Amino acid sequence: MKANLIHGEWVTGTRAVANINPSDTRDVIGDYAQADAAAASAAVAAAAQAFPAWSMSGPQQRFDVLDKVGTELLARAAELGDLLAREEGKTLPEAIGEVTRAGQIFKFFAGEALRQRGDLLASVRPGISVEITREPLGVITIITPWNFPIAIPAWKIAPALAYGNCVVFKPAELVPGSAWALAEVLSRSGLPPGVFNLVMGTGAEIGPALVDDPLVTGLSFTGSVATGRRLAASCATRGAKFQLEMGGKNPLIVLDDADLDVAVNCAVQGAFFSTGQRCTASSRFIVTDGIHDRFVSALVQRMKSLKVGDARQAGIDIGPVVDARQLAIDLEYIQSAQAEGATLAQGGEHHATDAQGQPGFFLTPALFTNTHNGMRISREEVFGPVANVIKVRDFDEAIAVANDTPFGLSSGICTTSLRHATRFKRLAQAGMVMVNAPTAGADFHVPFGGRKGSSMGAREQGTYASEFYTTVKTAYTAA
Ligand code: NAP
Repeated sequence: MKANLIHGEWVTGTRAVANINPSDTRDVIGDYAQADAAAASAAVAAAAQAFPAWSMSGPQQRFDVLDKVGTELLARAAELGDLLAREEGKTLPEAIGEVTRAGQIFKFFAGEALRQRGDLLASVRPGISVEITREPLGVITIITPWNFPIAIPAWKIAPALAYGNCVVFKPAELVPGSAWALAEVLSRSGLPPGVFNLVMGTGAEIGPALVDDPLVTGLSFTGSVATGRRLAASCATRGAKFQLEMGGKNPLIVLDDADLDVAVNCAVQGAFFSTGQRCTASSRFIVTDGIHDRFVSALVQRMKSLKVGDARQAGIDIGPVVDARQLAIDLEYIQSAQAEGATLAQGGEHHATDAQGQPGFFLTPALFTNTHNGMRISREEVFGPVANVIKVRDFDEAIAVANDTPFGLSSGICTTSLRHATRFKRLAQAGMVMVNAPTAGADFHVPFGGRKGSSMGAREQGTYASEFYTTVKTAYTAA
């Protein structure tokens, strides 16, 4: 049984949970110890105990640890990518890419550990100097979803440690294997005991111990809106800092002047790769009259050529849905869209086995036409390979429809008009805007995050991560 990491010790729990391969449900990957609330509290206490020394550790020590983790992740990208694909169901190239990205993130934040900055300001009073420094927050609880089980933990854990914080990491219960593998690498990196702790367990059971403990000074959460808002309310009540990255209902506008091949590529990659299980996935194609029919027909042709199957098999474009629960959600949205009057133009078929007869959660990507922005399929995040086309008159209507959503994560446009591209970048109500590029797919070293219901708190990734993981101190010194 793979154990939890608390104060540098591998601690088994009383229960074990197995993770299942969604491409082949007969394949049980491993058994993982479930932490209970007492173990979660012990992890928080261990992090608090380790904090004073780690917060005073030198930049070189932090660099060495993070750089070592990054080097190992890059070297083992194929092996760990295979585990990730087996556990979560994204295709092997995507999974290897995710591990590689995690390695790059650790390397980037190794550099950040050396680049800690401050400011010297002039005082309005003679003989006084003012220094502005950034200090670590303390104990950070990191709670992550299942859809990027190595990259999302990496982009939270690496900056937390680089800026001198201690971490308690709770992964999603569907993906303990990837989380454990990452923790195992961290456990051999030279970190003092307690600086990084792993607790696997359900949110319902160990969430309160990880979020409500007064020793926890910050929460970095990625997941659904419903969970995020609940946890934020709890942090706000006791004055803990929080950062939430949540869902999306990301639009891709296609204008009459778009290059059709570019638009179809953006649509397929944005909506259906990673089985549509990305917060930045395109789920609404907002298409002007003049190109609508050509776009739908070319997209349907491309979708017919996509191969759905075992995530680890060569030539597969779309892996399975992550589990039976998410599959049921996807199928329910497909039914409800039809009940609302939308036309299923392509896909949406559930297959209980792949072409080789392996039992898994296979769903062909679904495209709906004849939809409008008031329908449930246009307003709620599905989190699966399901997208709909909304026909509009012109750019102004397109931008109005794109922005008419409670979410604001990523927003894209396909156009050859500089004027439309420029206006779109200005008017789109989203944290990330994409011109002739898929809504999903971000660099590892630039700020990531959204607006409106998609995000709360400071941006993640790149140097902007220091906004969350540090607190500003202003020091006055009289000569
Ligand atoms: P979720 O159900 O909200 O779970 C996210 C994490 O929260 C999991 O680790 C979960 O643990 C934990 N959790 C649940 N209830 C909790 C509680 N009461 N206390 C503490 N932790 C609790 O979301 P998900 O289904 O894993 O992920 C899909 C969602 O994530 C989608 O909405 C997607 O858009 C969003 N997402 C956003 C981004 C972004 O950057 N904006 C990136 C990726 C995904 P359990 O596993 O035990 O339930």
